[in-house]
Amino acid sequence: MTRTVYVNGDYVPEAEAKISVFDRGFLMADGVYEVTSVLDGKLVDFDGHAKRLERSLTELDMASPVTIDELLEIHRELVRLNDLTEGGIYLQITRGAPVDRDFAFPDPAEVPSSLVLFTQSKNLANAPAATTGISVISIDDLRWARRDIKTVQLLYPSMGKMMAKKAGADDAWMVEDGVVTEGTSNNAYIVKGGKIITRQLSNDILHGITRAAVLRLAKEAQMEVEERGFTIAEAQEADEAFITSATTFVQPVVKIDGETVGEGKPGRIALRLREIYIDESRKKAI
Ligand code: PLP
Repeated sequence: MTRTVYVNGDYVPEAEAKISVFDRGFLMADGVYEVTSVLDGKLVDFDGHAKRLERSLTELDMASPVTIDELLEIHRELVRLNDLTEGGIYLQITRGAPVDRDFAFPDPAEVPSSLVLFTQSKNLANAPAATTGISVISIDDLRWARRDIKTVQLLYPSMGKMMAKKAGADDAWMVEDGVVTEGTSNNAYIVKGGKIITRQLSNDILHGITRAAVLRLAKEAQMEVEERGFTIAEAQEADEAFITSATTFVQPVVKIDGETVGEGKPGRIALRLREIYIDESRKKAI
């Protein structure tokens, strides 16, 4: 089946989708994005992703070409047209395509933002990495200082994934001033003595939608949560480690820079949180 994608008001076969070469997303990474996961053909935490999208747009003084209600309808229509039961929907808004390349922002009254969405089918709930756990390496965090905005400037995270791959690992945790910020495309956690530890929110990390849900569910399940930075050495000595993101949910980390974490297998708390998170997501998906 040919995938149907959404481009600036039209649902078209992916091979027919077109964006201008002058689009500022293409030329300047002047765009924001969201990835919403789909379980049982329904959207997980659409409201959370929509709110973060609005915040990203506001921070960059960028307009959305559609309302949140219209976005919800586009998401649902893409799920329907592509018969998607499990996977994700990628959404990108850029500052549109002015007549020429220019550093100054175009007038939004003259140049509308571009909107693109597409589906990706993927096994999420039964992903093999959830049972084996993943390995990570540590790398310097060389990104810009507004990581709270979900922009399409993903070159350094891509380089980080390649550094991990080259080192025979699955992903990288980024470190700044001796403390872990987050994973290349996920938030990072350790567990010590039953306490879940993850970096506090600030402009230094992306405010993960999955992070918010998982911390809320952990507290509801009477688990102790501490929001603070931690070092790689502390993580290597932790009982457990894990990551969260919209498409990985909660995924255990069993090796950090070649050192085994805990017993070297997915930890009890990470697996419990994964189960609770998936259960709740299935119940509340829309
Ligand atoms: N941190 C970074 C740098 C990310 O790119 C992502 C997701 O893409 C996350 C954290 C997790 O955010 P969410 O749970 O909203 O997917």
